[in-house]
Amino acid sequence: MGGRPKIALYWCAGCGGCEESVIDLAEDLLTVAEKAEIVFWPVALDARYRDVAAMEDAEIDATFINGAIRLDDHIRMVRLLRKKSKRIIAHGSCAHMGGVIGLANLFTPRQLLECAYRQVPSMADPPGPLPVEGGDGPRMPELLPVVKALDQVVKVDAIIPGCPPPPETMARVIDDVIHGRLPAEKTVFAHRKALCHECPRLDSRPEKIEITRFKRLHQTRWDPDVCFLPQGLICLGPVTRGGCDARCIGANMPCRGCFGPTERMDDFGAGAIACIAAMMAGTDEPALAQLVDSIADPVGLFYRYCLAASVLGTGPTP
Ligand code: SF4
Ligand code: SF4
Repeated sequence: MGGRPKIALYWCAGCGGCEESVIDLAEDLLTVAEKAEIVFWPVALDARYRDVAAMEDAEIDATFINGAIRLDDHIRMVRLLRKKSKRIIAHGSCAHMGGVIGLANLFTPRQLLECAYRQVPSMADPPGPLPVEGGDGPRMPELLPVVKALDQVVKVDAIIPGCPPPPETMARVIDDVIHGRLPAEKTVFAHRKALCHECPRLDSRPEKIEITRFKRLHQTRWDPDVCFLPQGLICLGPVTRGGCDARCIGANMPCRGCFGPTERMDDFGAGAIACIAAMMAGTDEPALAQLVDSIADPVGLFYRYCLAASVLGTGPTP
């Protein structure tokens, strides 16, 4: 690399938490700005689409993209960034697997707009037009029929998983880039093994678990030193890639899978269902059906971060 490495950051459909994981670099951001040239970062810099379009192909060393692909504008932008970047890094669960934004695939775009602009109690009465109805105003970006993960639109070279990713991981990857060490293709900045292997509660996880009733945290007095699973609380640590330092477990929250599947699994949600189903006690079908019914919001639980990237992720028929 000649001169300072060039970095870009872009935000598609997300909550802003991944941008925050960059801001969390705090004073180290000044070092990044000194050692690298941040050529595009809409949250912080006034650079436009046309500025990126004017760059040479592969001029940017690494582009960090967070958020899911929700709008036609996202497709246009990430394709341009792909062309202009040596490495595209999916930054956070939404870019990696569609994230929580991907749960919108349970509804059509029209249903989503009706809900957001007409049905929520805080909406003005009578409600105004939906954004898609346009009028004479500026062109609004269009909702795609379904939310996509970044690699369903452009080739992704590396992944920083997490919702949001740990600031230490962000710091390490950015430090690598500013020192000219671009990530090898298919790098996932996480551990290969499942989260359970780094969990402080692992010793209390029995070899065989038989769950007779699923509970939610507010329904039970749980032991904070014991694995959630034998207590009937669903934790997805056995199927989730480690590397987050078990931060949620440390805060007394079961794992919900934001780091995505371990290498041996193709579909995170299916793997998570199979894992928990294998722990259900008994063989009596009505009792098993009752046990399944006691799982609140199964899609939101097993596919919370990965519906868009799953085999189910194509959304309802409009
Ligand atoms: S991965 Fe999490 S923190 Fe990042 S944009 Fe998506 S919802 Fe927000
Ligand atoms: S299932 Fe959850 S609580 Fe139990 S050992 Fe694995 S990560 Fe820890």
